[in-house]
Amino acid sequence: MTDYTYERLLDEARDALPQNLFDGARFEMPKVKAITVGNKTIIKNFREIVNIFRRDENHMMKFILGEMATSGNIEGAQAVFQGKFAPTFIQDKVQKYADAYVLCPECKKPDTKIDKEGRIYFLRCEACGAKHPIKNM
Ligand SMILES: [Zn+2]
Repeated sequence: MTDYTYERLLDEARDALPQNLFDGARFEMPKVKAITVGNKTIIKNFREIVNIFRRDENHMMKFILGEMATSGNIEGAQAVFQGKFAPTFIQDKVQKYADAYVLCPECKKPDTKIDKEGRIYFLRCEACGAKHPIKNM
């Protein structure tokens, strides 16, 4: 005699699978629109990406500049970098930023907030409730 109902078995099977299989819409990484002009590279949709990530534009700019090992600045909705860079190279840096400061390590969703507790920053997920310390804030 067992008390396993069909529904319960179904629930357990569902729990064993990654959550986002059932939530449908997987987060789609925004695609960097970059062009080179002379000896500069411009991310045309910089602000758009910042808005999707819901992060501070200066924080993201600082990170990307560090990763690209160049100088540059935000000009309106665009970001301008010294030097010529391939769009795929920049995309890789944007991905790195998202992995470090935007996407929840548990459920991979971008519905996160950065909280500060004492001297430590946390990435708090509004979708699944996970909380992870951020290393280099
Ligand atoms: Zn999450």
